[in-house]
Amino acid sequence: MKEKEYTVSEIKTLLDSMSGMYDLARVVDPIECRILDFQDDGAIGVKDRCYGIWNSDQKCVNCSSAIACRTGCHQEKAEHFKDNVYHIQSNPIKIRLSDGGVYNAVVELVSIEDDAAAKTDDVKVNNREAENNEDTAIRYRAVHDYLTDTLKSDVFYEKARELMMNNKDISWTMVTGDIMEYRMFSSLFGTERGNEALIKTAKQLEKIANKCGGLCCRLYRDKFAVLIPGGNFREEDFIKAAYAVRSDLKIGVYSLCLHFGVYMIPNADIPVSVMCDRANMALRTIRKDVNKIIAYFDDEIMQKSLLRHEIISGFDEALREGRLKMYLQPLTSEDGAAFGAEALVRWVRPDGAVMPPELFIETLEDSGLIHELDKNIWEQAVRRLSIWKSLGRQDLTISVNMSAKDFYSMDIYKVLTDLTAKYGVDNSSLRIEITESALIEETERSYPVIAALREAGFFVEIDDFGKGYSSLSLLKDINADILKIDMGLLRETENVERSQIILRSVISMAKELGMQVITEGVETKEQLKYLSDMGCGCFQGYYFSRPLPVEEFETKYATSAS
Ligand code: C2E
Ligand code: MG
Ligand code: MG
Repeated sequence: MKEKEYTVSEIKTLLDSMSGMYDLARVVDPIECRILDFQDDGAIGVKDRCYGIWNSDQKCVNCSSAIACRTGCHQEKAEHFKDNVYHIQSNPIKIRLSDGGVYNAVVELVSIEDDAAAKTDDVKVNNREAENNEDTAIRYRAVHDYLTDTLKSDVFYEKARELMMNNKDISWTMVTGDIMEYRMFSSLFGTERGNEALIKTAKQLEKIANKCGGLCCRLYRDKFAVLIPGGNFREEDFIKAAYAVRSDLKIGVYSLCLHFGVYMIPNADIPVSVMCDRANMALRTIRKDVNKIIAYFDDEIMQKSLLRHEIISGFDEALREGRLKMYLQPLTSEDGAAFGAEALVRWVRPDGAVMPPELFIETLEDSGLIHELDKNIWEQAVRRLSIWKSLGRQDLTISVNMSAKDFYSMDIYKVLTDLTAKYGVDNSSLRIEITESALIEETERSYPVIAALREAGFFVEIDDFGKGYSSLSLLKDINADILKIDMGLLRETENVERSQIILRSVISMAKELGMQVITEGVETKEQLKYLSDMGCGCFQGYYFSRPLPVEEFETKYATSAS
């Protein structure tokens, strides 16, 4: 779910317009229990504790705004405090900070009513008191994580805020940590061993925090955060902690790896959750690297995160406005005549700048949006095939790409067959490219879909063949029509002769298996020549053409049959 995003000045206008309609309209950070204050220069300040309006000195149990903030869904709740009922509407929003970051917050619209029932019904009051006592006990138990005994995340956020507010003159460092492939570790060696890893990690981190008067918590699952005051952050402490956990938990040849992300906090007013996010962003850059333990947040990471945010928040609009465009790169024979094209997406910004897929495909995959893009590009391809058919060029094919994530998000077979039926296009004109890595990752899901697509007359291509490590066993297991050899195999290595022997063998093997071979990434005349000599007859590469806007491709390669 995506919340609406506001700048600080938009928030101010929004609050002004709401304040006449409700007894109270305010923006709160329900994770840190703060009322936010918006300055004219775009800065965000902090007012009092938000629960102060109920004249309460304690955090609310089951805060509806915290639920709204975490789930991204509007919440409504009535709270009885003293002689009043507070009807609270909690609307989750995102605020764009002046440094480009994003802050999750909630607009609370509150109507206050006299609680007549409270005054007349003593039994209810007594009941409420009993409930309150129970709440206090629950709250007490809610402070510490049940497993590791460190602070729970919400308590950590609150205490960290307090600590920083009370010590404004010193600098702070936020460190987050996690266990590499914790889920796999836990399923390989059992939950008990997994828990042991969490407890040992927590102990090490708590030791670091205690030594310097900082704080430590388990954020969730295997994610921890440590707040370090003053100049007390020392890389060696965390490296030592990582080695201590590793040596404690060595099981056979398997050893556990910890990673840490570090955010040197330049401004303690930003939310603690944002500080943790930034440390985590740094951590993510090394999460698959067993040789690195610590990474630092920097400008480059910030830029990447801003781009990621821009992609996710701008995706729907870009799709609606047709800014995700299909480009076509010709697939040719040796003489350069095109028999088809590969559809490659480009994100064309309103100013005309063109963003290549490497900048956004991974983000769309991570955020569960890739199937929307793929469906859209497939439709652009099938629509184009129907136009070509009407021009008498049904000989031209289009190959579309498919993400491994698509197998989870849609009925691929239905989407594709519906599209070709809708536009009256032969299934054999549309080719489906599935990367070698997607086939390996999603064997169980992909094989039956591929079989069904081939049965329905679509051509299936294995893309990027040779990029991974299991290429040969893949060929043994899967029936496909076309093999697209990755250009990595083409690039000259130190030993040109050896790579050419491999290439020649792959081409002849594919042919023996009855597959057509296309080599991608052909850039020079020499490459074209030796590939032809090896028996490859189909090519894709800059030597012939870069991917082109559809109209340009048509002018060059798809004029109507005469
Ligand atoms: P791919 O499917 O392997 O596409 C071939 C890539 O190689 C394209 O990059 C193409 O522009 C590039 N290429 C072609 N010939 C040459 C050459 O001679 N030299 C060099 N250096 N590169 C060449 P592009 O367009 O940037 O796409 C990158 C990848 O993004 C694609 O690799 C594909 O995996 C993915 N992609 C592109 N469009 C889509 C899409 O609509 N959906 C999905 N899921 N993935 C897409
Ligand atoms: Mg491809
Ligand atoms: Mg490829």
